[in-house]
Amino acid sequence: MASLNSFADLLALADRSGRPLDELFLDEETAERELPRERVFQTFIERWGVMKDSVRRGLAGGKSFSGLVGGDARKIMEHAKERDIAGGHLVSRCIAYSIAVLEENSRMGIIVAAPTAGAAGMVPGTLLAIAEERGFDDAYTARGLVVAGGFGALVAGKAELSGAAGGCQAEQGVGAAMAAGALTFLLGGTPRMSVHAAALTLQNTLGLACDPVAGLVEVPCVVRNGFTAMLALTGAQTALAGVESVIPMDEVVEAMVKIGEAMPRSLKETADGGLAMTPTGCRIRNELYQIR
Ligand code: SF4
Repeated sequence: MASLNSFADLLALADRSGRPLDELFLDEETAERELPRERVFQTFIERWGVMKDSVRRGLAGGKSFSGLVGGDARKIMEHAKERDIAGGHLVSRCIAYSIAVLEENSRMGIIVAAPTAGAAGMVPGTLLAIAEERGFDDAYTARGLVVAGGFGALVAGKAELSGAAGGCQAEQGVGAAMAAGALTFLLGGTPRMSVHAAALTLQNTLGLACDPVAGLVEVPCVVRNGFTAMLALTGAQTALAGVESVIPMDEVVEAMVKIGEAMPRSLKETADGGLAMTPTGCRIRNELYQIR
């Protein structure tokens, strides 16, 4: 980013200027891309449209090419329509929408990486669910997307955002932290609350392994987006209530980088460990690739 190097910088600027987070991030993007501010914001509106389409197509779609995943998002929505469910309808929609995006990804459909394809569900899933619940229009919800993108960019300035480099904490953890910051912003939280929401969320994914079965971004990735969406919701809920992260967000990111470096290669998208190497994981891999 042009002038912001850390979350501490961001909060200092927010304190000095009294301006909301989306405006601060739009200033950065406008300066970096040398484009008119309206054009930059229009890009976020367009991305938001693509995200909503990916949820819609995901809910309507079928199985992935491997046949391992698909149809679970729709199942969750249908179940929620028919009977009382744990957590209420907002929770159901957060889970189902987040999973829907990953199901669409597994069919090679168009999604927006947020921050990666494997972690593309939480930002659109939770933002769309809250927008429907609260009646937020696209222009307002896209302001949340600006915040999510700004948070992701700040982390990306310090850390690799791929499971292969940093473990799943760097994909799902960062995606959930982006969603938590954006949800907090959309629900009227202060800049400090948004950053605490991100910090609380990210710290609770530290150490998460990347161990996809047969090397496909399907198991555990698809349902993991639904589970991690709940962390984002919890992060926003706790921060809006005034709960603060003892460890500042910049230090949580540093811890994530160090944990990623300490992780064995087998837990970083090699499919040589974790769930990928369970008896069932190996059987699925052998069947898919006809290994005898
Ligand atoms: S398990 Fe690996 S491939 Fe799947 S979402 Fe996590 S980091 Fe991405």
